[in-house]
Amino acid sequence: KNHTKQEIMEIAKEENVRFLRLMFTDIDGVIKNVEVPISQLEKALDNKMMFDGSSIDGFVAVEESDMQLRPDLSTWLIFPWDTEYGKIARLICDVYNPDGTPFSGDPRSNLKRVLKEMENEGFTEFNLGPEPEFFLFKLDENGEPSHRLNDHGGYFDLAPTDLGENCRRDIVLQLEELGFEIEASHHEAAPGQHEIDWKYADAVEACDNIQTFKLVVKTIARKHGLHASFMPKPINGVHGSGMHFNMSLFNKDGNAFYDEADEMGLSKTAHEFIAGLLKHAKAYTAICNPTVNSYKRLTPGFEAPVHIAWSASNRTPLVRVPTSRGMSTRVELRSVDPSANPYLALAVLLKAGLSGIQENKVVADPIGKNIYQMSSTELGEQDIERLPATLYEAVSHLKKDSLMREAMGEHMYNNFITIRTQEWIEYNEQVSPWEQKKYFKR
Ligand code: GLN
Ligand code: MG
Ligand code: MG
Ligand code: MG
Repeated sequence: KNHTKQEIMEIAKEENVRFLRLMFTDIDGVIKNVEVPISQLEKALDNKMMFDGSSIDGFVAVEESDMQLRPDLSTWLIFPWDTEYGKIARLICDVYNPDGTPFSGDPRSNLKRVLKEMENEGFTEFNLGPEPEFFLFKLDENGEPSHRLNDHGGYFDLAPTDLGENCRRDIVLQLEELGFEIEASHHEAAPGQHEIDWKYADAVEACDNIQTFKLVVKTIARKHGLHASFMPKPINGVHGSGMHFNMSLFNKDGNAFYDEADEMGLSKTAHEFIAGLLKHAKAYTAICNPTVNSYKRLTPGFEAPVHIAWSASNRTPLVRVPTSRGMSTRVELRSVDPSANPYLALAVLLKAGLSGIQENKVVADPIGKNIYQMSSTELGEQDIERLPATLYEAVSHLKKDSLMREAMGEHMYNNFITIRTQEWIEYNEQVSPWEQKKYFKR
């Protein structure tokens, strides 16, 4: 809904909203917010809210720290849950420099920049339907997250009183109240693991929705005595959590990925887009899988991709084309995990796909087989390469990819590489329980 400033002021008054959260996302994908009493609403709507950007990781240096928050009025919403302080509303903002230009370290503004390039190519929309997965753990006596799951049994025979199922229902109801059109909500393969899917939306709105979704899931889980974790691989030996990205490009005639005449129902544009996705996969893996832990998920046997290939139906490669055609024709990237910054991820994926279209790239044949079971000779013969196996490897590919630099902008590209490298060094200095067990007595 596109509200006017006046409408928002009226709703806030009618609903007796007490606080306003001005939200934006940092480079790590973490939602930041500046909370102000509702008396500041008009000032905020007039783009007059400033904040100190130097306190945010990867934003700006202290010397240039006064950043401006410009709320996107279409993101106005009042959180459906009550607090003892009354109602709280939020607006998602773009971050601007003091001189009124968009700040290049703001992932949301950066995505808008890449979307403009897409429009110059004759497309009107880039749609995303995400499939986030997460785990629910119990809170302990002190309200701290524990590592105890609340359903240990098989995943289909859940007791009717199961905490996790009730919590998920509550999450779905709250999301619906916020206008999400929920399409699926189910228990996932691992104990304690869940997935909730909703209707696709145009790029920026879809990313805003992911951020809102995470906030709702965490808040509601807490009310049920649970902790929601979006960590990609929280538990050894079971499935990790992905966040598949279902993507489609539209032009004035509709879905540009669909072609009735093609054997697979896929247009030349779709093939080229996939070719671009495969070509830059090693580099954007650092963005779609930005944590050390992400790579523990990208291992064979748990429905997460390990190899750079595409398929029609098979769920082992990086890219899959789900069966729906017509307006729902889409490309599913299966590597993305919920620790990714959605705005950054979508910007680099769009750029990768568009480059395939601009260069009229020809894509290799789809792989129909289970890739986990292919021998290395077979993989070699078909030129199927592996995704980076560690954050370190992924970052080293990112460092070599100038297209990804363009997609992220110089500022975020450099900061991102610095932050991830630091994270790797920190991890590498740790001695894990696995190592102690394995080598201690040798
Ligand atoms: N959890 C799997 C992953 O890590 C996906 C499982 C599924 O949705 N089929 O990507
Ligand atoms: Mg799914
Ligand atoms: Mg799933
Ligand atoms: Mg999927």
